[in-house]
Amino acid sequence: MRLDGKIALITGAGRGIGRTMALTLANAGADLCINDVNLDAAEETAEEVRALGRKAIAVKADVGDPGEVDAMVTRTIEQLGGIHILVNNAGIIDQGVPTTESAIEKWDEVFRVIVRGTYLCCRRAGQWMVEHRTGKIVNISSVAAFTGLAPRPAYVPAKGAVVDLTHTLAVEWAPYGINVNCIAPGFCLTPMSIEAFKRAGADLDKVGKNVPMGRLAVPQDLADATLFLVSDLSDYITGVTLPVDGGWLVYRTLPRG
Ligand code: NAP
Repeated sequence: MRLDGKIALITGAGRGIGRTMALTLANAGADLCINDVNLDAAEETAEEVRALGRKAIAVKADVGDPGEVDAMVTRTIEQLGGIHILVNNAGIIDQGVPTTESAIEKWDEVFRVIVRGTYLCCRRAGQWMVEHRTGKIVNISSVAAFTGLAPRPAYVPAKGAVVDLTHTLAVEWAPYGINVNCIAPGFCLTPMSIEAFKRAGADLDKVGKNVPMGRLAVPQDLADATLFLVSDLSDYITGVTLPVDGGWLVYRTLPRG
């Protein structure tokens, strides 16, 4: 799967899944805009992309801020030459405390980054994509969107909204040759999940064993699925959400003993 001549913007690509996605798309030939709220982290990823022989710019921007998103996409177009691919990966998680004790401000912040951030980036990149009648967008949701994972009163519905936003944009932009799809990662070892597991007192070994494929996801699992969805091989696929979860969502079994 080659992406030669394509320009991609990945949000939250300073670390975790987004960073591996950036390196995977660069290895396939894409030039990259690496976004993060942490500029040093974004610059580190951009350096790794450049070491692979691709162009990369690092842009500090909060995806929930329309002015910063506008400036980031404008820079991508001006400095790299366009925006053929957008991966909305930036995300934060809520506190994991009982809903009755949860902070309203945190709920707003999770929705601001995940839902508003995905909308703002799609909206701005979509302006270029509609005009040029081409584009591939991948939104990162979560298996949480299809479950009652608790207590997560912000993260779960925010990730559900990302799935729904994917549906409506896929329909609206299909006539312009733009594919809008979604990936729902299962539990994956990254700084975000390790911290969340720790706070929840979850046993990582047991979480892995509870996945039919017997292990947690690694960032490369998500990056490979993303590569497929931004490549020409997925040209007739739009509006879908692809779980990349080792079978976790479909896992049900009868209790024994
Ligand atoms: P991560 O390690 O925390 O990486 C997320 C990156 O996004 C961080 O670099 C973070 O910056 C950045 N970010 C946070 N808020 C931002 C904002 N407003 N604007 C721009 N960047 C921002 O998380 P991850 O585990 O790689 O997760 C990546 C995506 O996959 C998220 O959308 C997450 O919800 C989803 N996902 C992850 C899992 C999992 O198990 N890991 C499972 C399902 C879905 P800071 O470092 O400064 O916070």
